[in-house]
Amino acid sequence: MTDKTELIGLSKTEIQEKLIQMGEKPFRAKQLWQWLYFHGETDFDKMSNLAKDLRQKLKNNFTITRPKIVAEQVSKDKTRKWLLEFQDGQRVEMVYIPEDDRGAVCISTQVGCAVGCRFCHTGSQKLTRNLTAGEIVSQFMVARDTYGEWPSPTAETRYLSNIVVMGMGEPLHNPENVIKALNILTDGEGIAISRRRITMSTSGIAPKIVSTLKATGVRLAISLHAPNNQIRSKIMPINDRFPIEEILKACQEYQSGDGSRYITFEYLMLKDVNDSLDNARELIALMKKYKLRASFNLIPFNPWPGCIFQPSTEKNIKAFADALEKAGFAAPVRVARGQDILAACGQLKSQKEKS
Ligand code: SF4
Repeated sequence: MTDKTELIGLSKTEIQEKLIQMGEKPFRAKQLWQWLYFHGETDFDKMSNLAKDLRQKLKNNFTITRPKIVAEQVSKDKTRKWLLEFQDGQRVEMVYIPEDDRGAVCISTQVGCAVGCRFCHTGSQKLTRNLTAGEIVSQFMVARDTYGEWPSPTAETRYLSNIVVMGMGEPLHNPENVIKALNILTDGEGIAISRRRITMSTSGIAPKIVSTLKATGVRLAISLHAPNNQIRSKIMPINDRFPIEEILKACQEYQSGDGSRYITFEYLMLKDVNDSLDNARELIALMKKYKLRASFNLIPFNPWPGCIFQPSTEKNIKAFADALEKAGFAAPVRVARGQDILAACGQLKSQKEKS
């Protein structure tokens, strides 16, 4: 173990404080920040606008670490999945989902997850620990290393254009580190991803929704997956703690006074569980009751070994989507990606652990 301080994950102010303690001028913090987050540099010796003796001091006191890539899979449709390992040997997954001229990187916030959604493969892996802010940020930096997106490209030319905080873990069970990480990822002098291009998805930890969203300015997605508490509690036991009404009230508060705040409700289509037309009608009534500006993302279920659910039929998914759209809600059906690689979140990790 080293007693050096890891730089990735420190805020700009923290870096500045450290440099001042070392007798350096505050503006050096900005230069160092740009090397770390604009150029993606990992070698102090290449930080050419810093004096040689400062580079040596930095080397003596700090580290710049990326998680190790343990496994990598690329699908026929170019979806890429990485299994990443941190310093203590803990592992998480990250996925890149490309579109024509852009794409989203899906990052993780915890090792395992305590929420235990019954349809989720990660939910079957117990929570081990929260990720630090640096471990959250450095996942995206690995994606940029892989695609050669350093120095930070402009918003128009970047290929890794969006971030979805939807990987392993419940972000609102780790809000401090998630807030810090998102503020680093969106900083205009570094990685500079627009807040509007980041979506954080939660299982609905109601008391943390408004504060976390306000502290980050990113977009909100809720894993709803059911039109009533009875069904939701069956597939997401966390619903007993934070029932639908509490979540939707938090959503109302989040939207109040800001017409630009749109919410996406994720809805996994599970055969004979939540996919009937009655379920769609109930869902529409719920949205109207709370007057939310929202759209749906209907997700065909991708079964994994040992899961108890079946995917809805295409016919049911279409009828469900049509009902929502007739009621005025956008309800695109998510196109399944990376079907030929282990696509369900958590599967690559499980497979590696078995082998
Ligand atoms: S869906 Fe998300 S919140 Fe639910 S168990 Fe999986 S990782 Fe956790």
